Amino acid sequence: LSRSPGQLARVFRHAHEIPDSPAITYDGGALTWAQTLDLVLRLARDLRDRGVRTGDRVALLTTNRPEFLLTVLATWALGAITVPVNFRLTPREVAFVLDNTTPAVLLVEDRTAELATGAGEHAATAAPEVLDLDSRAYLDPATFASGPLDVLDVVVPAAADDCAIMHTSGTTGNPKGAVLSHLNVFVCSAGVAKKWEVSSGKGVVMLAPPLFHIGTFLASQGAIAGGGTALVVASSGFDAAATLRTMKEHAVTAAFMVPQQWSLLCEEIDRAGGADAVGLQLGHANWGGAPASAKVLDHMRAAMPHTEVKASFGQTETSGYGVGIDWEDSLRKPGSVGKPADDMEVRVVDPEMNDVAPGEIGEIVYRGPGVMSRFWNNPEATAEAFAGGWFHSGDLVRRDEEGFIHVVDRLKDMIISGGENIYCAEIENALTWHPDIAEVTVVGRPDPTWGEVPVACIVPQDPAAPPDLASVRAYLKDRLASYKHPKHVHILPELPRTGVGKIHKPTLREVVVS
Ligand code: ATP
Repeated sequence: LSRSPGQLARVFRHAHEIPDSPAITYDGGALTWAQTLDLVLRLARDLRDRGVRTGDRVALLTTNRPEFLLTVLATWALGAITVPVNFRLTPREVAFVLDNTTPAVLLVEDRTAELATGAGEHAATAAPEVLDLDSRAYLDPATFASGPLDVLDVVVPAAADDCAIMHTSGTTGNPKGAVLSHLNVFVCSAGVAKKWEVSSGKGVVMLAPPLFHIGTFLASQGAIAGGGTALVVASSGFDAAATLRTMKEHAVTAAFMVPQQWSLLCEEIDRAGGADAVGLQLGHANWGGAPASAKVLDHMRAAMPHTEVKASFGQTETSGYGVGIDWEDSLRKPGSVGKPADDMEVRVVDPEMNDVAPGEIGEIVYRGPGVMSRFWNNPEATAEAFAGGWFHSGDLVRRDEEGFIHVVDRLKDMIISGGENIYCAEIENALTWHPDIAEVTVVGRPDPTWGEVPVACIVPQDPAAPPDLASVRAYLKDRLASYKHPKHVHILPELPRTGVGKIHKPTLREVVVS
């Protein structure tokens, strides 16, 4: 086991080397590494007794709770594959994921049980056995008093074995199940631990956004890889004040969140009198998952002057890993998401797979230990994604002379208007500084003359005095070429977001045509 490319081997090692160090903390409790290992093996035994075998899928439909991490590890102890499911999906969407992966067991909790039952009505295949974590007192201290475990054969995975099926959150279509191997998670989690200085008994990683999302999932595995503490925050929505309190109380040293969450957190820090007044101990503030405007990045640096603000740029299919920038480089290269992570190879290519020159826009494609093996049950999508032997991200970027990557837009979000390519992100960046705009995003709307035109969806600073189209266009006059100026503005009280806080552009595209 000690030579295994699996996370469980690391848990065994931590349980041996730092048995009394906190491994998982949560509201109302903490588990040491020794207790964590014990619980993982008990859970694994439970799953085994329910018939879970090597290669089976075990789906998890729960909010953030310590058992999430324990169950993932227990699944791996049996050589089975974990399938985290987004608890914000509709029953029909949950049914899609369950039908796609046909798990042997589905773990739920009281508040998601109904979602699972509803999914059954839509499912085409036989329903999995459902186990409600709330009905089993795994975390009850009495568990440990119930005596030692009987023998459990722990499966030692091979590097290429399937370990997790993570569904893309579907901001661009039907979710696809990215299959991650043990090597993917083993390598990328070690990268996270290194980046966040998590090591044996050191580092507290806050897991606030949902664990089913690759960013938080990988962060949790980073804490496990290094032997630090995974702080599981049970939250149903983002609450900046509560998050800041949690950071303080648990002396959090590293966290990953989407830019909008960092922005709200920084406002909260300002309100509380600044990072020093708050006693913030955060060493690493990692943002990613969606573009951050220069305004948000400036705010992060100003509000958290002692914290290293770092970017991650990747996607579910690259284990949430791909490109990253560290603190020093981000000061020198504002707006860049950095360079390829260790061992990741990237190219920036045109549609014929020729490398584009530095400074030119192309699609970023990946190869390396972070890249998924395939999409589950979807050979067509897999073949398309790996055309030419590289994983196609669908992200448009520009690489500068020094090799730093600058994100331009998603291919699918790019607007072609009168034959010109318009990158929504560029318009969004320019408009974030408009004094009357609190939040803005840009989407395309079909147009009989131009094919498509940009529409600015705006949340105004003052709902009573929203900016109009003339003011938006006047603001952009000297900033962007006129063909990029929005042709309409759409005022909204808030922007639609996915479960992890990313803006959901498909909803907006529907809103702006209606
Ligand atoms: P889907 O792939 O179904 O559209 P999704 O967007 O939620 O769903 P994820 O894998 O969660 O899928 O997101 C990955 C995408 O998020 C990347 O391809 C990229 O477009 C965007 N992204 C991630 N990190 C950054 C970043 N640091 N800056 C800009 N965009 C980012």
